[in-house]
Amino acid sequence: MKFVSTRGQTPSLGFSDAVATGLAPDGGLYLPETLPQFTAADLARFELLPYPELCFEFLKHFATDIPPATLRSIIAKSYTKFAHADIAPIVRLDDRTSVLELFHGPTLAFKDFALQLLGNLYEHQCATRGQTINVLGATSGDTGSAAIHGLLGKPGTAIFILYPEGRTSPLQERQMACTGADNVYAIAVDGSFDDAQAALKELFADQAFRTHHRLSAVNSINLARVLAQCVYYLYAYLRLPAATRAETEFVVPTGNFGNVLAGWLLQKMGVPIHSFKVATNQNDILHRLFTTGDYRVSAVTPSLAPSMDIQVSSNFERFLYLSVGRDASKVREVMQTFKTTGGYKFEDFNRDTFSASRCTDVEIPGIIKSVYERYGYIVDPHTACAFADLAKDRPSLVLATASPAKFPDTIKAAIGIEPTDPSLELLKKLPFKKHLLKADAAAIRAFIDQHAV
Ligand SMILES: *Cc1c(COP(=O)(O)O)cnc(C)c1O
Repeated sequence: MKFVSTRGQTPSLGFSDAVATGLAPDGGLYLPETLPQFTAADLARFELLPYPELCFEFLKHFATDIPPATLRSIIAKSYTKFAHADIAPIVRLDDRTSVLELFHGPTLAFKDFALQLLGNLYEHQCATRGQTINVLGATSGDTGSAAIHGLLGKPGTAIFILYPEGRTSPLQERQMACTGADNVYAIAVDGSFDDAQAALKELFADQAFRTHHRLSAVNSINLARVLAQCVYYLYAYLRLPAATRAETEFVVPTGNFGNVLAGWLLQKMGVPIHSFKVATNQNDILHRLFTTGDYRVSAVTPSLAPSMDIQVSSNFERFLYLSVGRDASKVREVMQTFKTTGGYKFEDFNRDTFSASRCTDVEIPGIIKSVYERYGYIVDPHTACAFADLAKDRPSLVLATASPAKFPDTIKAAIGIEPTDPSLELLKKLPFKKHLLKADAAAIRAFIDQHAV
């Protein structure tokens, strides 16, 4: 299988190269050249497979440059650190409402599904190419810790994660700084997230530095992330009651459009998921897009669901490419207009099977409270956004993207209970190691020169 760029101006690549490259050189995002089609007979065959086996059956269509036995063991290893035997269990709240819990991985958020796998793919790549790799990223929360836990202690790799000093939650900081692993560098910079991001951009723009250290970026657009996420949609679909499976709407808390895009791609591969609801917080670019056809940036307002505080939804470009019939010149036109004017207004926007809802910070605590009172079930602030406007005419499966234990303050304020998790308690006992740096490219460059593998 080859992977093409949504901007159509760069050669196609095999799976491992597309994963290693991340953003395509023409500025586009990689997608499979063709989408495999799963038939009813395939789905029947998949029905009882455990999660890692199902993941293998899915990914083998894409990762065709990795020998099957190797791919199988990479996948098996990637789902050993999940605390629930089902990996992605479904909890039924009532006849019409169920929750797919995607927070049983090592950092208690759904990003572990992709980043555990990505870490093992990087390790495999280091081994087969006889090269080391240095992974670099800036984070304001969940992505950094999930990436760190994907690469923890892996030979041939080092990971450098920058975050704004004093502006991540204490729990998130501990997840990054209390790993005990020699190849992990949690770097608190004295500046904002944007300062950290700007410094990284400068380093990545330096081609010589980038090549010398074989730098790879942690970001939300990596092909492996999207493909790994398709699997839990398939797994969940197969575990819904047969009678309501074809009717159920998947409701997905969304920021960068990465999570929900994976579900939609799976639907385009023949898995008959009825529809998707894109659930945003008050940073609602996607809600505006899906309700008015206008894709337009606006300032980010920090919210109680911080992992969805985004200005643009980078993975939208993948949806756009496929929904305009793989017309890369149309994608270039839209993205160029968007970049120069801050927006693009679609005439006849085709929303396919998507609808959207939005949820403000004023509403989130009330939703946490009402879900708790009604079902005795605690949702985190991101998952709460999904409950803002559930369909009245069909069953909903809500994707729970983080454990409530990651947001004890918000939950406590809403229902008076402070949720916890054994893994977070354990962190409090581990040694804390972070590095303080200035938020400028020169300081970070010197640090990497000193510590890179
Ligand atoms: C990252 C994240 C999201 C948003 O996911 P996207 O792929 O950006 O849509 C939602 N909830 C939580 C808890 C997250 O960590």
